[in-house]
Amino acid sequence: MPILRVALNVPIDTLFDYATTEASPSDIGLRVCVPFGARKLIGIIWDVCTETAIPADKLKSAIAVFHDIQPLSADLMALFSFCSKYYHHPLGMVVINSLPAKIRSIKPPTLKSEIQDVVYLLTESGRQVDRSSIPARNTVMHKLLEALSGNTQLDSQQARKISAHTVKLLRQWAEKGWVEEKHDEILSDTNDSTRKLPLPELTPEQSAAVNSVAMQFDQFNTWLLHGVTGSGKTEVYLRLIAKALSENKQVLILIPEINLTPQLESVFRARFTKTVIVSLHSGLNNTERLHGWLQAQNGIARVILGTRLAVFTPLPDLGLVIVDEEHDSSFKQQDGLRYSARDLAVFRAKQAQIPAILGSATPSLESYHKALISRYHHLRLNHRAVKNAALPRIDCIDMRSEKPKTGLAGQLIHAIKDCLSQQQQSLIFINRRGYAPVLLCYACGWTATCRRCSSRLVVHLQDKKLSCHHCGHREGFPYACPQCGDPDIKPFGRGTQRVEETLSELFPAARILRIDRDSISRKNAWQKVRQTIHRREVDILIGTQLLAKGHDFPNLALVGILDSDLSLFSTDFRAGEHLFAQLMQVSGRAGRAEVTGRVLIQTEYPNHPLYQALQQHNYDALAKNILAERKIAGFPPYVFQALLRAEAHSVNMVTDFLHTAHELACSTVEDMKNKNIEIFDPVSATMARLKGMERAHLLIQSGSRQELQLFLTNWHRQLNLLPSSKIRWILDVDPVEF
Ligand SMILES: [Zn+2]
Ligand SMILES: [Zn+2]
Repeated sequence: MPILRVALNVPIDTLFDYATTEASPSDIGLRVCVPFGARKLIGIIWDVCTETAIPADKLKSAIAVFHDIQPLSADLMALFSFCSKYYHHPLGMVVINSLPAKIRSIKPPTLKSEIQDVVYLLTESGRQVDRSSIPARNTVMHKLLEALSGNTQLDSQQARKISAHTVKLLRQWAEKGWVEEKHDEILSDTNDSTRKLPLPELTPEQSAAVNSVAMQFDQFNTWLLHGVTGSGKTEVYLRLIAKALSENKQVLILIPEINLTPQLESVFRARFTKTVIVSLHSGLNNTERLHGWLQAQNGIARVILGTRLAVFTPLPDLGLVIVDEEHDSSFKQQDGLRYSARDLAVFRAKQAQIPAILGSATPSLESYHKALISRYHHLRLNHRAVKNAALPRIDCIDMRSEKPKTGLAGQLIHAIKDCLSQQQQSLIFINRRGYAPVLLCYACGWTATCRRCSSRLVVHLQDKKLSCHHCGHREGFPYACPQCGDPDIKPFGRGTQRVEETLSELFPAARILRIDRDSISRKNAWQKVRQTIHRREVDILIGTQLLAKGHDFPNLALVGILDSDLSLFSTDFRAGEHLFAQLMQVSGRAGRAEVTGRVLIQTEYPNHPLYQALQQHNYDALAKNILAERKIAGFPPYVFQALLRAEAHSVNMVTDFLHTAHELACSTVEDMKNKNIEIFDPVSATMARLKGMERAHLLIQSGSRQELQLFLTNWHRQLNLLPSSKIRWILDVDPVEF
């Protein structure tokens, strides 16, 4: 009797055996419905074998095997296995959670129209249909015939735009012989002779980068495309994508933010007009996501543009992997399976023996280090691609002598005034939304804090609310200090809303636009904002890091940076790296076209090496400096880390658990006779309380990735045996947040 070994979405790292009446190795990778306790679950058939350790009377039978879509490929299954082993996460959870929700459900979706994109064409007999014989009230039929006339083909998506019923109608017509169903042809754009616009001319640096990768297109290499802001990395991607398409390959492009998707997507669509481009991100509904995923699996979609989760997309003809803004921390998943999409993208490239390109103006120090030691190939773009566009001039405003009431230095106000008079845009960057970060009692020093988190409540003046940016808790303003009763409680410090208020007082005639997560919450809002900026309907922008990433504002001449000093002295060893990347990105928004850009940083530490390096646009100097410090201190990339994170309702429970885990770690190291593993004492997390849970962690590190992995495997097995019903814990391999 054949046995199915099935991966299920349960927190136990094992495969589950089920009996079945018939099965063959070709069923591996298919979805299967099985009984699990009192429930039914959907799993993936991981193996088909003939024996099982489960006694015959305990062995249950699979309920149904679904053949409606192709099985997962061996490559994809190997990726999941790697992911499960490397991140010490149950295989079934890795697999099932990476699939579109619709194919995870017990009721298989009606996939007919989703599986293959079909295009419809009128046949000869369809053309001869006498339209006057169709009643005029049947508008859908008339519209559909009209849309199909003149040899036009419609795909199901276009057809659905006419009416929800058209796809059904088209199928009926196909049966009648009025239309012909054709599977969407896989088209390639490289022989597109109808292109109207000539391609932009490449700079010598861009050509060199394109040629280097193109010459080694059929082998695995990781290329760090390291280009200053505005140096035209996207054009390098586009040329290499064109090459991949011409060789009938698929391309996977990972990007950090959903906000960037529409912009990049439109650039790609404009260049590759005939290619099916699919965009996969969290803003899609379940049907859209399923549709994109299946198009990728069937090879209909040739370019897949997506955020983190898209790294798990099935891609049978993968020929090129690109990770744009590779330094961005959003590539690391921060809950559940804590994977790095960037690292998995490189793994996929290695699997397929194809190039992986990691692009950034400010590479992560991990990637930069690998380029320095020649693990990665280093491609540099040191000049801006637009003619006459120079890098902006960056200056610090020394705030030690000046303490302006408005929070804005005279020099910055003056520069904004200049911009206004020359009808240029300026941008004030402050990475803190809300009106003020603190509500303070001036009599006793009380501050409003969140009951559920170890954080202060942020003042939102517009809706007169205090809000926790960590758990979402909101409450009204107190009338007096809850501690001493004094009515003199006031907002302290500033966020985007307060800067907006100040600027509208200073420049009442200016058109001011604030851009942060409070103002851009709806889908598509971002696109409207971009249009507003491009049409020059804004004079002054105020924004958080939402504005810092990848956007092109041709008329932006001035960037003012407020309150960035805080990050200089953070306990997070990566804070400097992240601040530098952020400031470099936001500074890079200025002077993209022929407007000369200027950046002014308000700081009390104008001589700090970070600001010095920024002023000289010298990433290398700062990066080498930080790397030297990390080497001495024993931080990544010179060591590899794993963090055991634990949380519970009581502090004691967390501490007890971590102490037991610590003892287990020490004895594991002793048993392994391994001197290369460093075990730290348990400490509180940076956010010691979050959403009512007490949080702490235990850090393990090693100079050897292999030895760390070996240790983690042994340790993890023992951790799984600890009683932990009231504790939530997880191993975070290569953690980026503490
Ligand atoms: Zn008070
Ligand atoms: Zn909170």
